[in-house]
Amino acid sequence: MKYNNFEFNTYFENYPDAKGFFGKYGGSYIPPELQAAMNEINEAYQTICKTPEFINELHRIRKEFQGRPTPISYLKRLSEKIGNARLYVKREDLNHTGAHKLNHCMGEVLLAKSMGKKKVIAETGAGQHGVAMATAAAYFGMECDIYMGSVDIQKQAPNVARMKILGANVVEVTHGLATLKEAVDAAFSAYTKEYKNAIYCIGSVVGPHPFPMMVRDFQSIIGIEAREQMIEMTGSLPDAIVACVGGGSNAMGLFSGFLNDPVTIYGVEPLGRGEKLGDHAASLSFGTEGIMHGFNSIMLKDEKGEPAPVYSVASGLDYPSSGPEHAFLHDIGRVKYDMVTDDETVDAFFELSKTEGIIPAIESAHAVAYGIKLAQKMQSGSILINLSGRGDKDMDYIIEKYGIR
Ligand SMILES: *Cc1c(COP(=O)(O)O)cnc(C)c1O
Repeated sequence: MKYNNFEFNTYFENYPDAKGFFGKYGGSYIPPELQAAMNEINEAYQTICKTPEFINELHRIRKEFQGRPTPISYLKRLSEKIGNARLYVKREDLNHTGAHKLNHCMGEVLLAKSMGKKKVIAETGAGQHGVAMATAAAYFGMECDIYMGSVDIQKQAPNVARMKILGANVVEVTHGLATLKEAVDAAFSAYTKEYKNAIYCIGSVVGPHPFPMMVRDFQSIIGIEAREQMIEMTGSLPDAIVACVGGGSNAMGLFSGFLNDPVTIYGVEPLGRGEKLGDHAASLSFGTEGIMHGFNSIMLKDEKGEPAPVYSVASGLDYPSSGPEHAFLHDIGRVKYDMVTDDETVDAFFELSKTEGIIPAIESAHAVAYGIKLAQKMQSGSILINLSGRGDKDMDYIIEKYGIR
């Protein structure tokens, strides 16, 4: 299918290219020691992950351990309350551990095991990626080091407890601001020393090649399932699909199944408290081209050109950039990127809970908020929203800050 004169029939053969570029975005901007390790992962990915053994084993794991396929639910009461458009949600909240992140963690750790590695290394901010990694490591009997800033360790006690119960080693990072950025640096430097024995696993479609491609491919199960399920349930493709975009993995997972279809695609960024730099994390909407964390993309910068401070009510979305493939799809116009505020998100959090009996992750509530606005505008047709995770982790904070709505 052609879209804005761009051919999508052959998209996955050409994007990314052999060096990991989606147009000018992506690539690998890292020290030579690390490049050797990335080349090893890329080679292993290109060979091992294409074998029937790997594909069959991952399929079995998804079915027997993760509980896939996750269903699609029709939001009958919410749709009828709004008007005549039909809203559907892809239930990644029902994936084991309660979010989509396990989709790529199981793939990455299966790959690590197939490569003969003994240990996985990762960083975590809010702890969601750390918990998914610790789960995958426990399943495969691998050692697991999770780097986490001491400030985040204080804030995220339940996730720290989960990781420890799952047998992971939580490594406290105390220097600098002691949050996610320092944890990334510490994890990278540990990996540089240990890469013969260990593999580094990233938390989204970001970082140097091959991670944006590999994480997209492992997450693409969301879009593959959703496309079939929508056709089976409704007899046709959805008119529009919607997902929230932090780094962009749940969104790429869903979008990849529909790029070559006549479906309007929306990525939703967090507008937080407003448009001032520091009050949001809408990197694709307000950012400019730049390099961070080993890849070229669109990012929010401060006056010195460094990654800017960002804010969102959803800690899983407060990242000053997004994956290179999103930057590319943004520039060619295939995906429309828009924003919702914290307030709209919190309203949607309560609306979905009260009207449908589904408490969404506050990240996913961004997509729900946008889906509701879209349904009000469209007044016909169908909209599929990616419900990337469940909201148990957010309840205490939301009630404390906003009360019950
Ligand atoms: C981490 C997380 C996100 C954001 O990450 P993406 O890579 O943008 O998908 C969204 N939703 C949930 C539930 C998460 O845990």
